[in-house]
Amino acid sequence: MKKTALVTGGARGIGRAISKVLAEDGWTVAVNYLNSEEAALSLSREINCLLVKADVSDENQVSAMFKRIKSEIGSIDLLVNNAGISSYGLFTDITPEEWRKMFSVNVDGVFYCCRQAVPDMIRKKHGCIINISSMWGQVGASCESAYSASKAAVIGLTKALAKELGPSGIRVNCISPGCISTDMLGCFSQSELDALIDNTPLGTLGSPEDIAEMVCFLASEKCRFVTGQVIGANGGFVI
Ligand code: NAP
Repeated sequence: MKKTALVTGGARGIGRAISKVLAEDGWTVAVNYLNSEEAALSLSREINCLLVKADVSDENQVSAMFKRIKSEIGSIDLLVNNAGISSYGLFTDITPEEWRKMFSVNVDGVFYCCRQAVPDMIRKKHGCIINISSMWGQVGASCESAYSASKAAVIGLTKALAKELGPSGIRVNCISPGCISTDMLGCFSQSELDALIDNTPLGTLGSPEDIAEMVCFLASEKCRFVTGQVIGANGGFVI
C-alpha cells in the first residue's frame, strides 16, 4: 500500500509525535499547522514532510490544503484528525460563541477533512481515517461539557463512517486518549494534575508517543480487520 498521510495539528503535542512516528514507519507525511510555524519548521528539519498551514475549521482553507497536498505528494491514504482545542469552566459560563468555536474546530474540522479525503479513498478502494477523540467523549467531564460533547460527536461520526465506508475498503477508527502530557493540560495546577494521576490506575500521565504508536499500529495492515472502534489509551482511567 502506498503510504501518504495527513496529520492535522501535526506540529506540536500529540500531533507532532504522530507525524514523527509515521515518518519513521515510512509514511510520507503532510503536517498541518495553524499557529505553530516555528515548531512546524523545526519538525521539517527532523523529518521529511510537507508543511501545510490551514485552519481546519475553515472549509476553504481545508480545501486549499488538500489541493496542495495532492499536487505535491499525491492523494492521501491516511488521514489523522488530531487538531483540537479544549476549554475548562462551568457549563453556565459557556457562551454560544465559545460553544460554536469548540465545535467548529473539533467537529467541523474533522468533517471538512473527511469530506476532502474520502472521495479519493473511495476511488482507490482503500484508505484509513483515525480520529483523535478523548475519554471525556466517552464518559463526560465535569466543567468540560462543550469539549466532551464535541469529542462524543467525533465518536459518533467515526462509527457511522466506518459502516458507510467499509464496503469501499476504508477503515475509520478513533483513539480516545486519557490525560496526556502536552500544552493542553497547561490549564491545570500541579495538584489537579496529581489528582488526575491518582485516578489513573497506571499511575502516570500518558506521553504523546503513547498515542502516536497506537495511531501507527491502527494505520498498519496488522489492523486490517479493525474498523469503527474507539480505542482507549488512558492508563485505565476509563475501563
Ligand atoms: P495541544 O498541544 O494543545 O495541540 C493542539 C494542536 O491542535 C496544535 O497542533 C494546534 O496547531 C492544533 N489546532 C488547534 N486548532 C486548530 C485549527 N483551527 N486548525 C488547525 N490546527 C489546529 O493539544 P494535544 O494534547 O496535542 O491534543 C491533540 C488532540 O488530542 C486534540 O484533538 C485533543 O483534544 C486530543 N486529546 C488530548 C488529550 C490530552 O490530555 N492532551 C487528551 C485527550 C484527547 P497550532 O499550534 O499550529 O495552532
